[in-house]
Amino acid sequence: MNLVFLGAPGSGKGTQAMRLAHRLSIPHLSTGDLLRAAVRDNTPLGRDAQKYMAAGELVPDQVIIGLIGEKQAAGELARGFILDGFPRTVPQAEALDALVGDGAGIDRAILLQVDRDEIVRRLSNRLYCEACQVIYGMATNPPRRAGVCDRCGGRLRPRADDAPDVIGHRLDVYRQQSQPVEEYYRTRSLLLMIAGVGTPDQIFSRVAAGLNVSVDA
Ligand code: AMP
Repeated sequence: MNLVFLGAPGSGKGTQAMRLAHRLSIPHLSTGDLLRAAVRDNTPLGRDAQKYMAAGELVPDQVIIGLIGEKQAAGELARGFILDGFPRTVPQAEALDALVGDGAGIDRAILLQVDRDEIVRRLSNRLYCEACQVIYGMATNPPRRAGVCDRCGGRLRPRADDAPDVIGHRLDVYRQQSQPVEEYYRTRSLLLMIAGVGTPDQIFSRVAAGLNVSVDA
């Protein structure tokens, strides 16, 4: 299956995409994770992307389309995929259609809907693992040991772009540049709208039901 997750920052895309990829045994690709890894490794891509990310701006389309193009050329999209955080603009959605070809195409675009107040609450209260990128909501799914990743034991810290002064800007950028992507898939009858509230388990059940897959493998 070729799937994309849409939704504002903090809507739970990463958490749900990771679970679904595990359930369907297909790769999960998060452009945000790839960019954060590039920043951490101080690659040319990372040095280029860092200033946009820190300011809550989108990295330019040609950079991010090139990144996904490399994954496709390496065969990483060949046996199905779940993209999380891409596409974020209409030109990115068009580029993805061109990359995966008309025949294979995108099967579903899953939109996690969460209202703005809840998003601000979540982004202000979350930590991520520097090593494996798992996100913890301090209110909804806290780690078992404070500051330590349950999955890999890595150190948990806030994301620089979850700073209060950047959050509002990221949400505006979403509304202006990424909401049109929802429309792009709606007009193609591919949009699956899911209420992104409740526990991660409850949300996952809705996603699975919407895709007609059972929750357990
Ligand atoms: P995320 O982890 O998905 O919230 O992404 C973190 C940051 O990475 C975003 O705020 C953007 O600066 C950048 N980014 C991630 N994915 C994209 C994309 N598809 N297009 C442009 N910028 C992106």
